[in-house]
Parts: sequence; C-alpha cells; structure tokens
Amino acid sequence: MKVPLLDLGSQLKPLREEIIATVTKVIDSTRYIQGPEVTGLEDEVAEYCDTKSAIGVSSGTDALLVALMALDIGPGDYVLTTSYSFFATMGVILRCGARPIFADIDPVSFNIDPVDMARVLENDTEKNIKAIIPVHLYGQCADMTAIMALSEKYSVPVIEDAAQAIGAEYPDVKGNWHRSGSMGLAGCFSFFPSKNLGGMGDGGMLVSNDSNFGRLVRKLRNHGAEPKYYHSKIGGNFRLDPIQAAVLRIKLKHLEKWHASRRENAETYNSLFAESSLIMEGKLKLPIAVYKDLAEKSTGSNNYHIYNQYIITANNRDGLIDWLRSQDIGCEIYYPLCLHEQECLEGLIEKPSLPHSEKAARSTIALPIYPELTSEMQAYVVGKIVEFYRS
Ligand SMILES: *Cc1c(COP(=O)(O)O)cnc(C)c1O
Repeated sequence: MKVPLLDLGSQLKPLREEIIATVTKVIDSTRYIQGPEVTGLEDEVAEYCDTKSAIGVSSGTDALLVALMALDIGPGDYVLTTSYSFFATMGVILRCGARPIFADIDPVSFNIDPVDMARVLENDTEKNIKAIIPVHLYGQCADMTAIMALSEKYSVPVIEDAAQAIGAEYPDVKGNWHRSGSMGLAGCFSFFPSKNLGGMGDGGMLVSNDSNFGRLVRKLRNHGAEPKYYHSKIGGNFRLDPIQAAVLRIKLKHLEKWHASRRENAETYNSLFAESSLIMEGKLKLPIAVYKDLAEKSTGSNNYHIYNQYIITANNRDGLIDWLRSQDIGCEIYYPLCLHEQECLEGLIEKPSLPHSEKAARSTIALPIYPELTSEMQAYVVGKIVEFYRS
C-alpha cells in the first residue's frame, strides 16, 4: 500500500469542475488584480474568524511581513517568538532589520511557553521587544490567554502566526471560543497548498479586530498608496491574486468538514497507537488529545486542534523515517533545525538556551493526516511503525 503524506488529487476530484468554472469566470472577466473574488474571500474569512478586517495578501510570509511593517519594526528592535517554527516566522523579523529573541516551547504542545516568555520579557529592561509572534504550530493554538496577559502587562502587541491554524480555536477565561488570528492585534494565514485551506499557488490573509491596523495593512499591501499614486508610507506589492481567491472561496465552504475529518483521523491514530502499547513502552509520544466540547470528553485539553499536522515524538526518529519511506509511507520532519540553529543567523544574535525546542527538532515526525486518508491506510501506517520497533 502507498500512503502519501498529502494527497491533493483526492481533494481536487469532487471540486474540479466547480473550480475550473470559477477560474474561467475570472479569466473571462479580464480583471486580474484585486476585484470581487478577492473582496468576497476577505469578507468570508472575516466572518469565519469573527474579525473586523481581513486583507488578502500574496503569502503567509507577506502577511507576517506587512504586519511587522505596519508596526514600524526596524533596526534596534527585537521580536519575541519561538525557535521551533517554519523559517518565515523569523525571516520576516530579520528582513525588517530587527532581531528575533526566543522563548522555549512547551514540550507537550510544541507551542511557545508563556512562562519562558515572561522570563524573556522581564529581562528586557531597555524595552527593545516591540512585538510578540506566537505560532499556532501544527494547527493548535498557543496558550493565548497567558500570552495576551503578557502582551497587556508589557504593552507589546501580538501578531499571531496562524499560517497552519486557520479555524483552530481557543477558549478565553469565560469559556468563549475564539478563532485563531482573532485574539492578538492581528493574525496571519497562509494558503500554501499543504495548509488546511490551500490554494493552487501562493496566497495569504491578515485578519484584525483593530480597524485602524487593518486599514494601514490594506494600504501597505499596495505600496502604501492612498489615493492611487500618493504614498505616505512605504509598503510593497503584497496583493492576493483573484484566481487564487476564487479557488479559495470554493474550498472555504468545505473547510469545517475537512477539519472534522482530520480530527477523526487523529482520534483513529490515537486509539491504534494505544492498542499497540508502543506508548506505554516509551517508544512513542502522541499529540495531546484535544476536544472542543469539554463536557463530552473529560480528558480534554483546552484547544480546538485542526491537525494541519499529526506529530508524534519517536525514539530513533531518523531510523523510523527511513523505514516508513521504504514502505511507501510519506512522513516528514517539521522542522529538523530550530530557527536559532540556522546558518543565516550566525553572528546576529547570542546563542540562546532552548532545550525543549532542540529536543523537538531531533525527535518529532509528521504522519499522513489529510482528510481523505482511509482507516485502512492508517492501520497500515501504525502496523509498519509497530513492525519497526518489534524487529
Ligand atoms: C507556511 C507557514 C508560513 C509561511 O506561509 P507561506 O504562505 O508559505 O509564505 C509561515 N509560518 C508558518 C508557521 C508556516 O507554517
């Protein structure tokens, strides 16, 4: 059996005709920049996330970049973030001329640890930290209640890197659930094809409940022009293509169903692994089980995970990866190096001590979790993992 890490073909099949029709409509309209598909998607994402503004941009990276530009982040400034993320999280900070400063992760959720963040913020006596970027890694929100409390205490705005987490939710202290991206000053989504809501090329979106911030980002997205040809700010070309927007509007209608399938698949893995006794023997650690409805599942943790990735930590991780690939099972390491270990950072910051981040980079592995994955495929994956540890 062949089990790919992701199978976009099976997602495309039922939507193909509708997508071709809508893309044809955009082509025939001859309106190839901005226009009704982009504003339509912006309205729908704003509604989906319950935010005042949503601004379509060229990628998740550009959503983060334009957010930092809107905050006027520059040389001499620091941005507090996690070292265990995709490169873009740090790349945008450096491209603004600022420097990253890292807090370690919580070893269970892999998300930035508010206790370590508090230590970093407390040590920032000169108040050089000008923004915080928590990453909702793998589709699970970081501890936003604690993070927003730190944001308020130290008067530092939060930009959520929600690239992997559109539709993930987190409860406030009163138990009201909030969508990722809607809790900080702004949230940044990516429509890279492998994300839960993926386009047919690059795309991204910034959402915000601060109308002034939203307006500024909208202006910066188009070279800071307002009105046309008058530039009071320096922005860039960060626009979202209407062809991508048209595709994404079709896919958005299916997003909740896809999240639900991914969550079901995660449950299936959890029970298959539990039956295998590999967890008890300490060979594997699974993601924490997360439930939105706490009343229903007493073991629930406070998160609504959309499982962009299903991540286990494994003994002899690299050996297991070689084995799975030899058995036609797709798997990947997100990410083999921490951001503070990247060569391009050498000499730019002092080496931080981030033991949990480094340990995660050496032990995690992503298994196939896409919505169309069948339970037979999942049984095959788990069977092969059992075989690896038994032989
Ligand atoms: C995918 C991703 C990005 C970048 O998004 P692009 O659309 O590829 O530019 C940023 N941060 C994280 C955590 C991501 O996973």
